[in-house]
Amino acid sequence: MVRMQQVHGNKVVIVSNGDDGKAVPGCDGLITNDPKLELAVRTADCLPILVTDKKGLIHGVIHAGWRGLRKRVIGKTLNLINRKFGIGPSNLRIYIGPHICVFHYEVKGDVAGFFDETVIIDNKKYLDLALVANNQLINLGVLKKNIEINKTCTFESKDHFSYRRDKTNKRNQYLFRLNV
Ligand SMILES: [Zn+2]
Repeated sequence: MVRMQQVHGNKVVIVSNGDDGKAVPGCDGLITNDPKLELAVRTADCLPILVTDKKGLIHGVIHAGWRGLRKRVIGKTLNLINRKFGIGPSNLRIYIGPHICVFHYEVKGDVAGFFDETVIIDNKKYLDLALVANNQLINLGVLKKNIEINKTCTFESKDHFSYRRDKTNKRNQYLFRLNV
């Protein structure tokens, strides 16, 4: 398994069998073309994003909160996949795992100002992280039918850790490898 020492940045690293057991420092995206290599992403409210392609040649994980989305960590990942493996966005399949829903993700005005995907209720601003990711993916050329969004809200779910709810250091871990 390869893990990330996540920093809410946009550094994306290609890993291989030789990286098994490592925690890659300062990194919020991993990609591999080794189908057996297990990649881990840890979140508590942020988006855990799993990426693969239609032929199962590559797979990757992304950790994205508002900072990562603003820094275009998704675009950097997709560009790297295209550049290193020749797989374009229209051939990718994306799964966005459990995350905090818009109604539990109140943000300050400065954060809201970075994004169009906000709603205002009683003068409070809320950010829809998954919608930001979805819109970035569509703009990059990923097909809508190839994007799946898990609607489970980490704040509401008893089965998930939530930073906003618990102020916890605990994280939900998602492991991803391709079946071979
Ligand atoms: Zn919620």
